[in-house]
Amino acid sequence: MRPFTHVNARTVRQATAALAKYYGQARLNAGGTDLFGVLKDEFLPLYPEAIVNIKTVRGLDYIREDKSLLRIGALARLVDLAQSTLLRQRYGALAEAAHAVASPQIRNVATLGGNLCQDVRCCYYRYPRHIGGPINCARKGNGPCLAVKGDNRNHAILGGRRCFAVCPSDTAVALTLYDAQLLVVSPTGERLISVRDFYTPLGHGLSADEMVKEIQVPRLPDTLQQTFLKFTLRKPIDFAIVSVAALITRSNDLCTEARIAMGAVAPGVLRAVAAEEFLRGRPLNPETAAEAGKLAMEGAKPLSRNAYKIQIAHTLVARAVLGQSSTALSSLPSVGSDVYDPTELSTFHRCNSASVEGYATVVD
Ligand SMILES: Cc1cc2nc3c(=O)[nH]c(=O)nc-3n(C[C@H](O)[C@H](O)[C@H](O)COP(=O)(O)OP(=O)(O)OC[C@H]3O[C@@H](n4cnc5c(N)ncnc54)[C@H](O)[C@@H]3O)c2cc1C
Ligand code: SF4
Repeated sequence: MRPFTHVNARTVRQATAALAKYYGQARLNAGGTDLFGVLKDEFLPLYPEAIVNIKTVRGLDYIREDKSLLRIGALARLVDLAQSTLLRQRYGALAEAAHAVASPQIRNVATLGGNLCQDVRCCYYRYPRHIGGPINCARKGNGPCLAVKGDNRNHAILGGRRCFAVCPSDTAVALTLYDAQLLVVSPTGERLISVRDFYTPLGHGLSADEMVKEIQVPRLPDTLQQTFLKFTLRKPIDFAIVSVAALITRSNDLCTEARIAMGAVAPGVLRAVAAEEFLRGRPLNPETAAEAGKLAMEGAKPLSRNAYKIQIAHTLVARAVLGQSSTALSSLPSVGSDVYDPTELSTFHRCNSASVEGYATVVD
């Protein structure tokens, strides 16, 4: 690590003032679980002059619901989201997404704001200085995307342009499902950004003097089926190969409302709009769920080594639509290929509104 100025911010105003003072040369430190990896590996073109500690800002770790919104302070820790009774009862997909992140040690310090704003995990982008990096690429504003002709197994199959790194945040998937918004603050005021629009192919939507203060979720009714599923290669501590969250309302076995969000397939989190429209008014069974899975992947343009993600996404969407509880799940297509055989390698994190007891290994 290199020397930097350390600023302890006591208020959001002090934090954004420090960001404005060092415009573009400062980074916020919330839990530090991503930031200090970035600083130690020295892979960014510019090393920050200042680190603005926001752990010293009091009262920004709340999780509460009012008449119209669930409000979560940016400094709420992932462990608090995963264990919140309110979230487990009414926002189960978010509780489970938080629980699916990394390991207990990381969830104990990592914050929701930091999880949403963490940097991408592309192996070229993060190549450390001490073993020959940094490597320049399109995302760093200097050169082509090396993943296009290189190792792109973990990269985007939808929506990539110039950069194909996927959004690594699990909580963003659940928040996109809920049509959540981020309350963003700068020294000159506040604004709301939809989580759905927050991620761009080359970064996220914050200016250099802005920070996320609060995450706002429109209040949900009690009776929705919510599901969050995450396919990973390693059982503990791994980023999603594909993740899917679904929110389904049924009446007499017909789907009256469907929302489906997909993570790790694109630079941002995508809503499967065609699949959502297809499901409305239809019965929920393995055939309609499988069709929704196919529609969710319509327009996918895999790179040379990541077409395997399409089948995984098909099946995860279908399973999420059925709430992962139906006995008919066995008739859905498998996610297997020679390399990515789910019976050997994968873990599914799952939840539905009735049960958010942590993650379940489907086949061990
Ligand atoms: C081994 C390992 C495994 C992991 N696995 C997963 C996983 O499976 N799923 C997953 O989602 N993540 C995973 N992560 C990433 C992890 O979740 C993030 O490191 C963590 O959530 C970041 O939160 P933090 O509070 O520590 O953020 P920090 O490290 O403090 O900050 C991260 C970035 O966000 C910025 N930032 C922080 N707070 C704000 C704010 N309020 N407003 C604006 N910008 C802000 C910081 O400046 C920094 O650039 C993993 C990380 C590790 C190290
Ligand atoms: S995917 Fe993005 S971060 Fe990775 S090499 Fe390409 S441009 Fe860089």
